[in-house]
Amino acid sequence: MKEHVMKILIVGDPAVGKTSFVEQYVSRQFNETYKPTSGVDFSVKALQWSDKDMVRLHIWDIAGQERFISLTRVFYKGALGCVVMFDVTDSSSFHSCQEWKQDLNNKVTLPSGAPIPCILLANKCDLPERVVTADSIAEFSKNNGFFTWMETSVRDNRNVDEAMRRLVQEILSVQ
Ligand code: GDP
Ligand code: MG
Repeated sequence: MKEHVMKILIVGDPAVGKTSFVEQYVSRQFNETYKPTSGVDFSVKALQWSDKDMVRLHIWDIAGQERFISLTRVFYKGALGCVVMFDVTDSSSFHSCQEWKQDLNNKVTLPSGAPIPCILLANKCDLPERVVTADSIAEFSKNNGFFTWMETSVRDNRNVDEAMRRLVQEILSVQ
């Protein structure tokens, strides 16, 4: 049995659903109330990936407010994968994804020097007040070096496991 330990970062503007995403993924819970994360939240999830491979995820969830002082290198250090999340009902959170991705690329690379695999998640797709179109997300994702993007609803538990599975798969494929 081979064990793969992976540090995964979850970044994006405040209130897009990062903490909810981690809670849904790790403990199958969804809370309606918004409780801003203070500092960094750290969660662990173990996955039996295959007969031979065990994956242990160390998920780092950041308080969105931290972006205004720019995240420290400690947060990024050793990360093997990243989720950049925005809220489809909030166009400014979509535009911020470019900064999040740039900050990531500036502060961490794989040991090979390549950028770390990064997935773009368009969250809250259960809400009718959507303002960001699929076409604009697809174009942005392609132009900014995301290996893929997905629509998610953390509330409805839609694409949460799938998104993390794609990320782990990508991380394993570039190692
Ligand atoms: P964070 O600041 O990015 O960590 O965001 P939170 O996880 O704290 O979520 C902010 C708010 O959005 C909370 O009230 C959540 O209940 C809500 N929320 C998160 N994901 C979804 C979703 O997929 N759909 C809807 N409708 N609300 C969501
Ligand atoms: Mg949070």
